[in-house]
Amino acid sequence: MPEDKLKILFLSPEAVPFAKTGGLADVAGALPAALKKLGADVRLVLPFYRSIREGGHDIRRLNKRLEVPLGWSTLACHVLQSKSDRSAVPVYLLEREDLFDRPNLYGNGGDDYYDNFERFAFYNLAALKLCVAINFKPDIVHCHDWQSGLAPAVLKRPEGNDAFWQGTKVVFTIHNIGYQGTFQAEKLALTGLPFHEFFHADGLEYYGRISLLKSGIVYSHAITTVSPQYAREIQTGEFGLGMEGILRVREKDLSGILNGVDYRLWNPARDPYIADNYSPKSLTPKSECKASLIKESALDQDLMDRPLLGMISRFDSQKGFDLLLAVIGKLMSLNLGLIILGSGNEGTVRSLQKTAQRHEGRISVHIGFDESLAHGIMAGADMLLIPSRYEPCGLTQMYALKYGTVPVVRATGGLDDTIENFDPETERGNGFKFEAFDPKAFLDAIRSALKFYEDPPAWRKIQLNGMREDFSWKRSAQEYMALYRSLLG
Ligand code: ADP
Repeated sequence: MPEDKLKILFLSPEAVPFAKTGGLADVAGALPAALKKLGADVRLVLPFYRSIREGGHDIRRLNKRLEVPLGWSTLACHVLQSKSDRSAVPVYLLEREDLFDRPNLYGNGGDDYYDNFERFAFYNLAALKLCVAINFKPDIVHCHDWQSGLAPAVLKRPEGNDAFWQGTKVVFTIHNIGYQGTFQAEKLALTGLPFHEFFHADGLEYYGRISLLKSGIVYSHAITTVSPQYAREIQTGEFGLGMEGILRVREKDLSGILNGVDYRLWNPARDPYIADNYSPKSLTPKSECKASLIKESALDQDLMDRPLLGMISRFDSQKGFDLLLAVIGKLMSLNLGLIILGSGNEGTVRSLQKTAQRHEGRISVHIGFDESLAHGIMAGADMLLIPSRYEPCGLTQMYALKYGTVPVVRATGGLDDTIENFDPETERGNGFKFEAFDPKAFLDAIRSALKFYEDPPAWRKIQLNGMREDFSWKRSAQEYMALYRSLLG
């Protein structure tokens, strides 16, 4: 391997195809591959979760055993290696049965595991130890979300390995400011970081506790988030959720780089999950996908000639299901179908199921995580609803565009950056968006979309505008490369 290759260590708690709870996994699955294509030597480190062990991946055991100090104990860690499927990016898996061999990644239902600090402190410390052990000296350590927010602090004080880490720059990406990784202050002692150096308002102290998200923000050389609009929003009281002050302090080092889409996985022309493949040149088979979705979801047949609206989302207050529930009665009076796939908040599950019972044949609700159905909805629905309270980037609207499924979104974060209202005069625009977070604004946007649905040539134009857009990772990867290079001077 030529010595001038940029070496990048990727720390992300989840990555496709190994472990996924949300969009971060899509990003951490695709971005390293795109960076590799641009010539970088990228390596990804993940905890060896149970789901990875059981996931049928090609995994081999490395002859490496790390000793990771955590509090009073030193924990042994075995290292396994795999490769991300098509890109062959090396993926190191940190094996620690007691910490990671559990049913879920972060907790059960709505409850986080009580020892998430220990689990992810261990992950950060072990990942850095691994680099030394295999003599992979990164130019860039790229950390994602609070679960890898400790590494930037540790690299401020890489005890015993100062020479190894000299010159390494740290980038921290915020995928969602709502997840702040806050823990009781005493836990800091487990990391070996001196309390007085780190526990203060300009450090990782956060309202008397510690925040690993704040640690990432404070101790990294550059901070990015996943859309330009969200980069602006999180510096305000409305969206910053308490982090706006510290982000404003770091304004010059903060930028927004829009996520991309992995078109190897999300492309109706070769998607293996969907009933028939289609492209901008031949859109007709999309109706096969709709027919199959209607049949499999036990929706009324006559919806073939009526708009079918889809939603694929975590049930979280971020995602605006309260807006949906507020308008659902009126929506149903417009003679259309609605199909929802999601998991999360139990209250939302109950409300949606109750509503679905009242509208049998018109509303279908699927609870759980189902990759195949997500693709089926993306292809079979006519519109995708995303009424988010806030949305750092959002991936599903970009997938929807590619599938000719017209997005109706709230104008926030990456949704605002990627969706443009359709204008019949200029015939420009790829969807519909609304500003105020209120039911009326949402319903009005859906009504605007429905008006164009009844006008097939206009509808086709909107679909094609979206399908022809290119949100591939290449552009984002180039922006990250430019950022890395600027840090390395
Ligand atoms: P977030 O990361 O906030 O959850 P994004 O739009 O960035 O939102 O990414 C969500 C990702 O998770 C998309 O790939 C979407 O298809 C997927 N997803 C969300 N809920 C489900 C589900 N219940 N089943 C399958 N995929 C899902």
